[in-house]
Amino acid sequence: MFSPDRPSGPTLPIIDVHVHAMRVSPGFALEMCPWFLKDMPGSDPSQPARALGAVFSGGCVDPLQPAKSDQEMQAAVLETMERLNMTIVAYGDAQILHKWQKAAPNRVIPGIGVSSPSDMSVQAFSDSMSSGFYKVMGEVAPQYKGLSPSDMSLDPYFAIAEKMNIPVGIHMGTGGNGMANLTQASYRASMGRPFLLEDVLARHPKLKIWVMHAGYPMIDEMIGLMGANAYVYVDLAGFIWSYPQAEIHAYLKRLVQAGFGKRILYGTDFMIWPKLFEASISVIENADYLSFDQKRDILFNNAVRFFRLDASKFK
Ligand SMILES: [Zn+2]
Repeated sequence: MFSPDRPSGPTLPIIDVHVHAMRVSPGFALEMCPWFLKDMPGSDPSQPARALGAVFSGGCVDPLQPAKSDQEMQAAVLETMERLNMTIVAYGDAQILHKWQKAAPNRVIPGIGVSSPSDMSVQAFSDSMSSGFYKVMGEVAPQYKGLSPSDMSLDPYFAIAEKMNIPVGIHMGTGGNGMANLTQASYRASMGRPFLLEDVLARHPKLKIWVMHAGYPMIDEMIGLMGANAYVYVDLAGFIWSYPQAEIHAYLKRLVQAGFGKRILYGTDFMIWPKLFEASISVIENADYLSFDQKRDILFNNAVRFFRLDASKFK
C-alpha cells in the first residue's frame, strides 16, 4: 500500500490522532470495504432501511476484516503500532484504553470525551482530567445529539480543558450516509458547521481545538474558521477511508492549497479493522500533490506541535 518513493531505512514516526478503543461487539463485527460511500442508494422510507453493514461491505475484492475479540484487537493494534512506528491518541472504553496504554505506554496517549452533560458531571470530568491518565479531551461529538459545540451546557467542560491546557477534539461534519435515518435520529448535519465553533473559541481564547473529520464537506467554512482562529487544527479521520478517493483528495488538496498544511493532523477513526491503519496511511503516501515535507507535517510534525509533544522522544 505504500508508494515506492517511501524512503528506506528506519520507519519514520507517525501519529494517528483519532483512534477508538472499542470493545469488540459481535453484532458490529462486519467486514468493511474502504471508500465504500461511492454510490448512495436512491432510497425510500417505505423500503426496509439498509443496514449500515450492507453499505460497509459494498462488494470489494478484499474487504478489511474486523478483529474478533478484544485480545485479537489489542494484539493487532500493538503489532501495527510497532511495525509502522506509530503513536496513537485514543479514546473510548476506559478498560480497553487502560490495557492498551499499559501494554504500550509510549505509544498510547489517552483521551476522554464528553458530548453532553448526561455523559458525565463536570466534577467527574475534572477529577478524570486531574488523575493524570488522560491527556486529551475527545472525541467530543455533540452533533450526534443535535447540539452545537458552542451550546452553553458544554461550556464548563471546555473551561476545565482550557485551564488545564488539555487539547480538545470535536466531531464536526460527516456522519455517513443516512445517519439520521438509520442509527442516530438526533444527528444534525447543520450542527457540524465549522462556524458553530466561533462562540466557544471566543469564550475560551486559550482553548486548543482540533476539528475532527476536517468539517467535511464544509470546506469554505472550515477555511474561514481556520483563517480567523489561528490555533484551530483539523484531522482527516473517517472521511479518508469512506468517501471516494477523488473526493478525499480534492478536500485535502484544497486545505493545503489554502495554506493550512501546517494545521492538518493525520487520523483514522480506527474502530475494529486492524488493516485500516495501512489503508488510511496509503491515502497520504499516494497524494502526488503533496511534497515529502508536507506529508511528514501531516503524518507527524503537526501533531507534535499541536499536542506539545517532545519530538526527540520519537525515533
Ligand atoms: Zn467522529
